[in-house]
Amino acid sequence: MSESAADSRIGVSSGGEPPQLPAAALAVLYPLFCLAPLGLALTQRVAPANTWEYAAAGLGLIGLGAMAVQFVTSGRFGVVSGQLGIDKIMAFHKMAAWWVLVALMLHPLAYVAPTWLENPELGGERLMAYLTLPRYRSGVIALAALTLLVVGSVLRDRLPWRYEFWRASHVILALVAIGGGLHHAVAAGRFSATSALRGFWWAESGAVIVVIAVLYGWRWLILHRRPWRLKSVTKLADRLWELDIAPAPRTPPLNYRAGQFVWLTEGTRRFPLFDHPFSIADSPTRPGLSLIVKEAGDFTRQIGRLAPGTPIGIDGPYGDFTLEELVGESILLLAGGVGIAPSMGLLRDLVARADPRPIRLAYAAGLPENFACLPEIEAAKARLDLQVMLLSEEGGSDWEGLIGRLDHNRLSRMLEGLDPARSVALICGPGPMVTAVSDTLIDLGMPMQKVIYERFDYSGGGASRQDRTRRRRFSGIGAALALGLALFVTFAS
Ligand SMILES: Cc1cc2nc3c(=O)[nH]c(=O)nc-3n(C[C@H](O)[C@H](O)[C@H](O)COP(=O)(O)OP(=O)(O)OC[C@H]3O[C@@H](n4cnc5c(N)ncnc54)[C@H](O)[C@@H]3O)c2cc1C
Repeated sequence: MSESAADSRIGVSSGGEPPQLPAAALAVLYPLFCLAPLGLALTQRVAPANTWEYAAAGLGLIGLGAMAVQFVTSGRFGVVSGQLGIDKIMAFHKMAAWWVLVALMLHPLAYVAPTWLENPELGGERLMAYLTLPRYRSGVIALAALTLLVVGSVLRDRLPWRYEFWRASHVILALVAIGGGLHHAVAAGRFSATSALRGFWWAESGAVIVVIAVLYGWRWLILHRRPWRLKSVTKLADRLWELDIAPAPRTPPLNYRAGQFVWLTEGTRRFPLFDHPFSIADSPTRPGLSLIVKEAGDFTRQIGRLAPGTPIGIDGPYGDFTLEELVGESILLLAGGVGIAPSMGLLRDLVARADPRPIRLAYAAGLPENFACLPEIEAAKARLDLQVMLLSEEGGSDWEGLIGRLDHNRLSRMLEGLDPARSVALICGPGPMVTAVSDTLIDLGMPMQKVIYERFDYSGGGASRQDRTRRRRFSGIGAALALGLALFVTFAS
């Protein structure tokens, strides 16, 4: 998603406008917060130590600070993800998890490194002592929980667990890791024995408790106090359903922008642990919400059987797959499979506002029977300057559209008559399609910041050019942490 699409409104369905930090502020605040314990450690005198010990302590302090931030980056807080986009924040969360793990793994190893370099056997014994002495037990438990958490996340798709179970285990392991880490710092840390750092860790503990209370207490309350109701479920295509939901009498309407998404829970399971993200396939000009849902697993497979009147929990809106902040003379909407959901939201909104700009829609699906909303798309041509390209990977006897994928030639044909540099593109579909289409549009002359995409799977797809650019920026933040550590060791020694 584009960083220029910077005005996404995030929050629960109250329509409130929480403040949102720009990416540059986050890039400064993150290292400042993670390095704050090092700064505080330097303000007070502790018994002299050698360079390895300072490095070991520094790694522990940075790792523990950064671990607390992980609760915030995964918590869909508007102040953090509002401007940058939740998918980018999640990408950062994943990368930062590795920094935390590496720092905290190196923490005990750096303590024993000088001994180990002189006498490997003695170094090994010292390490075993660290890992088994009761004094360090909470730290070892924290490290074990963190390791399981990261490994469990990497292997998530291969584990035979329901997504909800993995998510609950992720939260529990994270709490064990931060609780154990903070206890270890206060109980065994040399620098953390000083009043300044002790205060910092207490404040950090309080902040983690508040974050958890908001995520699972406040949001749970809102899901129950501001319910929505299912009005109807309609079958659109093979394993594809459209839900029409409306706010219950005392629930305020959702103040959203076309293309955004919500987290949905249903029935008595209106608890944040059970929520699933779905794009809003609707225009804010219409009251209520339409969602287009594809059967993918346990939750979505039962969506077609939900009875009208079922209470629905809505948390949102989130996301910046929107047109508002994008300046463009023409609009390209590119949808693959159920990626049609936010594209229909955008198209319905363009129709409602009778947008005069040239619009090109490319809609790709695996089979002709997978297409949804085709009559409505056809009807939109009467209200908009709209050209449509339909592509099925496999043909069929009645299929009149194209066969195959959205390749370079087809994308360049879509751009015919338009100025790529003055167009905007919004892509939503399977990970590989998003990556290929995004890179090709940039090859065809579209500016990177005008090519926006939404992936329905936070782990999905190979890296696009935009993903790689973003990773390089994230790595710069990691390098700032490493530099901070080097300065700490230099000044402390
Ligand atoms: C921003 C966003 C918007 C989305 N919009 C739509 C949409 O409009 N229509 C649609 O059909 N699908 C959409 N999805 C995908 C949808 O959320 C998943 O297909 C659904 O949650 C699968 O749940 P399940 O229990 O049926 O399947 P499972 O088998 O449990 O999950 C299948 C995969 O979906 C993902 N997933 C499952 N549960 C969650 C969760 N709670 N949070 C995040 N990811 C999860 C995981 O990667 C998992 O591997 C969207 C996803 C995202 C991230």
